[in-house]
Amino acid sequence: MYQHEIETLAIEQLRKIQNERLSALVYRLYQDVPFYQQLFDKQGIQPGDIKSVEDLHLLPFTKKEDLRLNYPFGMFAKPMQDIRRIHASSGTTGKPTVVAYTQHDLDIFDEVVARSLACAGAQPGMKLHNAYGYGLFTGGLGMHGGATKMGMAVIPVSGGMTDRQLMILQDFKPEVICCTPSYAQTLSEEFAKRGIDSRDLALKYAILGAEPWTEAIRSQIESGLKVIATNIYGLSEIIGPGVSQEDFEEKGSGSYIWEDHFYPEVVDKKTGEPLPYGEEGVLVFTTLTKEAFPLLRYWTNDICSIYYDENAKRSHIKMSAIKGRADDMLIIRGVNLFHTQVEEIIHEFDYLSPNYCLIVERRGTMDTVQVEVEVVKGVDSNNAVFKSNLIQKIKNTIGLTMEVSLKNPGSIPRSQGGKLSRIVDKRAIEY
Ligand code: ADP
Repeated sequence: MYQHEIETLAIEQLRKIQNERLSALVYRLYQDVPFYQQLFDKQGIQPGDIKSVEDLHLLPFTKKEDLRLNYPFGMFAKPMQDIRRIHASSGTTGKPTVVAYTQHDLDIFDEVVARSLACAGAQPGMKLHNAYGYGLFTGGLGMHGGATKMGMAVIPVSGGMTDRQLMILQDFKPEVICCTPSYAQTLSEEFAKRGIDSRDLALKYAILGAEPWTEAIRSQIESGLKVIATNIYGLSEIIGPGVSQEDFEEKGSGSYIWEDHFYPEVVDKKTGEPLPYGEEGVLVFTTLTKEAFPLLRYWTNDICSIYYDENAKRSHIKMSAIKGRADDMLIIRGVNLFHTQVEEIIHEFDYLSPNYCLIVERRGTMDTVQVEVEVVKGVDSNNAVFKSNLIQKIKNTIGLTMEVSLKNPGSIPRSQGGKLSRIVDKRAIEY
């Protein structure tokens, strides 16, 4: 563990720290950010009313739209003299949101990433192949800082230029890689294509995030790259990668949220009401320690559940894998659908690979989904039984009849380094 004491602190003590940090934060925000001062005044709330995390529900959510209305620097809580770095979200869903860090914030960023790396199995002295994009996106520099802090040798490869990545993985022999799961799939396939045995690499751990992924992709990457693959989650608005991390010995049981810095809630998507632990809804964060860009109840739009795991090594709360973003949820003939649900079903068939995409179209008044999925090497993509098995399983599990088109290996677009979209929604184009 990178910070044993804080990572294993009893919940009551964690709450105490959270409450102290939150009380101090609301005063700062009221004084330094006009948006929050107006928000408090409008609600008739004084900073002194928010004494503990239990009082957070008195406040409305801060949403991406609020950040956009204050674009670019209106939400900063510190003057520019105190800012040491500015990042922006990838802009996956529109205009990027701009975020800032003081030196203290960068130190926290390094700390939570270092914790995450250790939690993923990385150790000082190992080399990190950092294939997250460097630049405005928080992934590259975020992982870089944390790895440097925890004593790793960072190879700042950034995203893309796959040939060069393969060469570095073979020649520099890093033990740890971090990138998007879809790019790890690409790398693993490229090695196989070139007849390079992953056992000749030194990779042990893959730390994957920035987009939703399931056990289907985990098994493909783990067997392809001969690694232990764990999930890292984060978003620029909260800090970047390192908001939560899965432990390499507790795979599949969720990712620890570093809750001494980021206080999580899961709320109902429609009503905004807080949900009990274990129930799925929208993840909401309050940053407890950041100086330059603190947020109260930030609506991430990501769907998951949070829960305490009594059998876990650490005391911090865990979150389940993200199912998708609330606005990526498709509503098809009245049924809510995330692409990760289809991904999980594909995983059950050993003749299918987790290279797939969903094509959504409107035919007349009917919305239809076509699943394009690749078969694994050596399997006939015209096999009618294989196709109908998948159609049936999707119908039984999700309750929707989808069209299925089995494709030959290599025919579905691959990640070139960044986030990969697995949905082609033709309805937006038609209307
Ligand atoms: P953008 O919202 O423009 O993509 P970011 O680069 O800050 O901006 O990405 C943050 C988002 O990426 C999260 O809100 C979430 O939707 C997604 N994300 C990050 N890590 C994961 C992960 N491990 N699993 C699923 N989704 C993730």
